[in-house]
Amino acid sequence: MKITLFFIAIIYSTMTLANSGSILATELSKEAFILKSIDYGTNIGLFKTTKGIVLVDPMPGSKNLDTLNNAVKDLYGEPVKFILNTHEHSDHSGGNAYFVEKGGILLDDAGNFTEIHGLLAKSHTVEDKVFFHKKSNSIFAGDIYDTSWHPTFYAGGLSGFNNTIEAILKLGNEESIIVPGHGKPTSKAELRLFRENTSDWVSRVKKLKNDGMTAIEIKNDAQIKIILERFNVEKRTDFIPDNAFVRFIERTLSVIEKGV
Ligand SMILES: [Zn+2]
Repeated sequence: MKITLFFIAIIYSTMTLANSGSILATELSKEAFILKSIDYGTNIGLFKTTKGIVLVDPMPGSKNLDTLNNAVKDLYGEPVKFILNTHEHSDHSGGNAYFVEKGGILLDDAGNFTEIHGLLAKSHTVEDKVFFHKKSNSIFAGDIYDTSWHPTFYAGGLSGFNNTIEAILKLGNEESIIVPGHGKPTSKAELRLFRENTSDWVSRVKKLKNDGMTAIEIKNDAQIKIILERFNVEKRTDFIPDNAFVRFIERTLSVIEKGV
């Protein structure tokens, strides 16, 4: 069975001399939205809690921060009070300073909120955080999960990745919405498929490495191309550029060599 996710989306636009941009706001429940700039890929979480407004991964592209701030005020009539990041990479934390300057408080974890359950993991980076917002039944997975790109399990290796996906699957229920760091939100069924594809990818790279192939040679393997295409959830024609494809193989090889 395929669950089709349907959400209501609103677009906020501002055009001033200093700033121009559009933020797409997708409602998950009365207390939660996914915010995203039209021209920047990061999925930003917005939660209304009893302690105040929480923003997860505030980076819509630096020129869109004013628009993001306005969208939050428009949606909830309150400014951002707390900031959380799924990991420290700048495309997820680059807006922290902007909101801190406006009075927001940057938090290390979601421990203070009854509405949010946090999970600590090691997969995409050595310190990944997953945020489960209970009322909207949505799980913000950061770059552990990406529906617009290939997987990037470089810090945790395949075992760190598998442990993390297992922990995410234990949150919520079968109807939970899985919000990736980038790309469209999906379901647990699709997350399981992503895990399966990642495992197939690593196995195939391992086999070809043992056959004595280089990264460039692996790239030309018919099977590896088919596996890579399985990550192309959005069916884009320009999915992974050639140099990024080779880099993904090289990074997978180094993970395999580290034995994790
Ligand atoms: Zn990212």
